[in-house]
Amino acid sequence: MQEYMWEAIIQCDRLYDGKFYYGLTTTKIFCRPSCKSRTPKRENTKIFSSVSEANTAGFRPCKRCKPEKLYAPDSEIVHNVKLFIHHHFNEPITLHKIAEEIHISPYHLHRTFKKIVGTTTSDYLLQKRMKVAKELLKTTDKSITEIAFKVGYHNTSHFSTVFSNKVGMNPSTFRKQYSIVTLLGDEDE
Ligand SMILES: [Zn+2]
Repeated sequence: MQEYMWEAIIQCDRLYDGKFYYGLTTTKIFCRPSCKSRTPKRENTKIFSSVSEANTAGFRPCKRCKPEKLYAPDSEIVHNVKLFIHHHFNEPITLHKIAEEIHISPYHLHRTFKKIVGTTTSDYLLQKRMKVAKELLKTTDKSITEIAFKVGYHNTSHFSTVFSNKVGMNPSTFRKQYSIVTLLGDEDE
């Protein structure tokens, strides 16, 4: 093992992620350099240049740092991003947060997503939020504030502005035009 590799392992240096991997001969588990698990004993540490090399040597990927995810195929990255956004669109989401969640660098994530999907992750997130908002406006009688909150906006007027820009009319106008619960409401009165 070269000195810089050992340094990277002790420092949990993300810069070396993907450049090499290290395995623990005691557990037969391998990690990326940035793994935050306990610093290994140097004599038990073995270096691999790739995931497949580690696999071939009979090492399993660490569950914590998921070294096998680093350079996952593009389609898998896109799938994981979409899945994450699908489950978390009502939370404050940043590119960095998604990247951390699916264990790749923000740069790689941004480039891959844009290349495959044609939009940025933030555009995709916005589309998802607006789609859900429209659905709720159409099919429920929840207040605009409630809907804004449900799609990740804690400020109703901010939500309305974004909605207007994206959809071309404000949420109340949209609701008046497209709501399918209006009739029901009228009958109740
Ligand atoms: Zn690890």
